[in-house]
Amino acid sequence: MNSAPYVGRFAPSPTGLLHFGSLVAAVASWLDARAAGGRWLVRMEDLDRPRCEPGAADAILRQLDAYGLYRDGPVLYQSQRDDAYAAALDALKAHGAVYPCACTRSQLAQAPRNIEGEIVYPGTCRNGLRVGAIARAWRVRVPDSSTHFHDRIHGDLEQNLARDVGDFIVKRADGLFAYQLAVVVDDTFQGITHVVRGADLLWNTPRQKVLQALLGLPTPVYAHVPLIVNAAGQKLSKQTLAPVLPETGQGAILAQALATLGHPPPPELSGTGPAQLLAWAVTHWQIENVPLHHALAKPAP
Ligand code: GLU
Repeated sequence: MNSAPYVGRFAPSPTGLLHFGSLVAAVASWLDARAAGGRWLVRMEDLDRPRCEPGAADAILRQLDAYGLYRDGPVLYQSQRDDAYAAALDALKAHGAVYPCACTRSQLAQAPRNIEGEIVYPGTCRNGLRVGAIARAWRVRVPDSSTHFHDRIHGDLEQNLARDVGDFIVKRADGLFAYQLAVVVDDTFQGITHVVRGADLLWNTPRQKVLQALLGLPTPVYAHVPLIVNAAGQKLSKQTLAPVLPETGQGAILAQALATLGHPPPPELSGTGPAQLLAWAVTHWQIENVPLHHALAKPAP
């Protein structure tokens, strides 16, 4: 366990506004920090500039305020952190931990896939580029052994990265740094001790742990809260047309989010607003009561 004072975070990607699924993750990380007497920070993961929606970052901050999820410090914007990511990539290069890759998406189309359907990089460029090939991306060499990690909700898990993921990208062919690199650099920069986020990111944790070890960075404590799915079983997202959080009736939505997290507020709090609901939830928060499995999004009341 990490003995530093608790610092948690919520790290939305401003590709659109928050929906019910992102609210559940935000509420869980906020409550876990507050219940531990810790600090809670927000990081805007606006790394993938082409996918960011103009105005979404500010709108997300207004949504968090409207739900009573106040933050304890300035927002960190990943779009302003390229120098830090470049320094981390240089450190990885100096250790021989990364290599340039010339593979295009179409060249990898026939590569094996893991159970999630993602390409497992076959290591084509691991021992050097083919003559005349042009380096496009940078990949990190992953170990062909189990990477163990602990999750406060899911327990002890392990993954063989070589078998299930392959050498993964830390700098993309379009010149942008990859999420996996940025997240470990920024979690350290912000002093994050505890990560509470959606279960869709559970199997990103071993990649992040490997990068932390290579860069000599601390590994936070992790908890992955259930993913909210729609009636078709799809993760709520912009792509699956998840409705944006409404601008009124926040109390009722928040009560639903708390119920989804295994903390249904008592009947006497029905009709109250975010401040009262969150005050109740902070004193009752037990991460052991958060269910393991995804929940169906209920229609807005
Ligand atoms: N930006 C990521 C997302 O919105 C979250 C990253 C993280 O919490 O590590 O899904």
